[in-house]
Amino acid sequence: MKKIAVFPGSFDPFTIGHEGIVLRALDLFDEIIVAVGANALKKNYYPLETRKEMIRQVFRDERRISVDHYEGLTVDYCKKMNARYLLRGLRTAADFEFERAIAQINKAMAHDIESVFLLTVPEHSPVNSTIIRDIIRSGGDASMFVPEAIKLSDYRGEE
Ligand code: ADP
Repeated sequence: MKKIAVFPGSFDPFTIGHEGIVLRALDLFDEIIVAVGANALKKNYYPLETRKEMIRQVFRDERRISVDHYEGLTVDYCKKMNARYLLRGLRTAADFEFERAIAQINKAMAHDIESVFLLTVPEHSPVNSTIIRDIIRSGGDASMFVPEAIKLSDYRGEE
């Protein structure tokens, strides 16, 4: 049975931190689905299609990584995709506490799905989509924090 992992997130925008986690997880899984959570109530900076397009650019040469979006519960999406693993990245103790609660609730709802956590490399610890968005909104150069394949000037955000 193929080992399929879902890497869910807002990815607003996708950063070098996210990229690092996905690339390292390629050693652990046969396929990884980077799944953008589409929450109609949440105001995002980059539109859903833009976020997906950015991620597709990053992994365009890697056939084991696909990009999708979903609505509703992450565990329901995993089941639909036959994914038994939920991939998440950890930067800090705060991330750990947040992720612990989500993973334990997910486990209670879907005991056959395992959450797998990879600790970020030290240089990616401070990389955070909220801060990157603030730099972009303020007209700064955030290119060093996003994968090389993402040319930020090609994309427009929404205020
Ligand atoms: P969410 O809306 O679920 O917080 P994010 O796009 O912010 O979505 O993050 C998706 C996942 O990537 C989360 O597990 C988050 O902890 C992880 N992540 C975010 N930034 C980094 C980083 N710099 N290094 C490692 N993991 C990260």
